[in-house]
Amino acid sequence: EAVVNRIAAGEVIQRPVSAVKELVENSIDAGSTSLTVLVKDGGLKLIQVSDDGHGIRYEDLPILCERHTTSKLSKYEDLQSIKSMGFRGEALASMTYVGHVTVTTITKDQLHGYRATYKDGVMGCEPKACAAVKGTQIMIENLFYNMAARKKTLQNSADDYSKIVDLICRFAIHHTSVSFSCRKHGAARADVQSVSKSSRLDAIRSVYGVSVAQNLLKIEVSDDPSSSSFKMDGFISNSNYIAKKIAMVLFINDRLVECGALKRAIEIVYAATLPKASKPFIYMSIKLPPEHVDVNVHPTKREVTLLNQEIIIEKIQSAMESKLRNSNE
Ligand code: ADP
Ligand code: MG
Repeated sequence: EAVVNRIAAGEVIQRPVSAVKELVENSIDAGSTSLTVLVKDGGLKLIQVSDDGHGIRYEDLPILCERHTTSKLSKYEDLQSIKSMGFRGEALASMTYVGHVTVTTITKDQLHGYRATYKDGVMGCEPKACAAVKGTQIMIENLFYNMAARKKTLQNSADDYSKIVDLICRFAIHHTSVSFSCRKHGAARADVQSVSKSSRLDAIRSVYGVSVAQNLLKIEVSDDPSSSSFKMDGFISNSNYIAKKIAMVLFINDRLVECGALKRAIEIVYAATLPKASKPFIYMSIKLPPEHVDVNVHPTKREVTLLNQEIIIEKIQSAMESKLRNSNE
């Protein structure tokens, strides 16, 4: 059974960046306002995410890393949004099958924190009392130590680290009320450092740089005002400025996802209006009723399709076209 679990876990956690994404989403779900990521050896030696969220109760620690253990199914809205999040209670469990997990946490009504370790879905021994400030710190060590073939394919730690940095940049510009930092172990400086409560544009400027931020147009689309079923707001590049790499940052219902059809549609608009802007920066936040979002359940990719996708895409395209045309006349 352990082998089967390990294989399944290796599907959920494909690379270090997949583990980071799950940890960061958990921290955000826990109401954190500050989040620190520390990475060693591209994440294979160490991934550590520290937050100042609500923490984990002592009595929840023994089952924390069992499969399908989640604290997020209590409300009706949560049940509805299962679909948009793809899967539930799999992430931490999966990490324990492919790495060594240590959790240090304190809730606001405890005098001290607790530390527990996990392996293959079970807790090592009784949680030990320890000093802790606020929130939760989760440490994954020796990721894929038991998956030699996987480890071999992940020899480029610089590449894995840059994927992690890229991910944190994306979170940082969406969750502007949270401060993010991401640092390589041993480095004096953080590679991402965002400030909480900044405006979206300030967040983009601090994370992606002035040259990206100064060429952006604000864009908003929604259904007729009487219905609240679809809303999009975002920022799109408005010039021939070429970003270092294409950045299409898409959040649907506050979840970082990918939508191939929308991405292609956006590329078509740029090709028609600004043919030289070959690598524009695009940030979009779409809000939809959760039942309109279909996640193609590959947990790492989060590729989504939307109900009435063609209509939504057309609306976004025509809004983009008029924005880009107006500002370039
Ligand atoms: P899910 O997020 O789908 O519930 P996970 O395996 O990612 O499943 O996490 C399991 C549970 O562990 C969460 O439901 C939550 O209760 C708890 N948890 C994980 N990370 C944190 C954190 N940083 N702060 C507080 N609780 C957390
Ligand atoms: Mg989770």
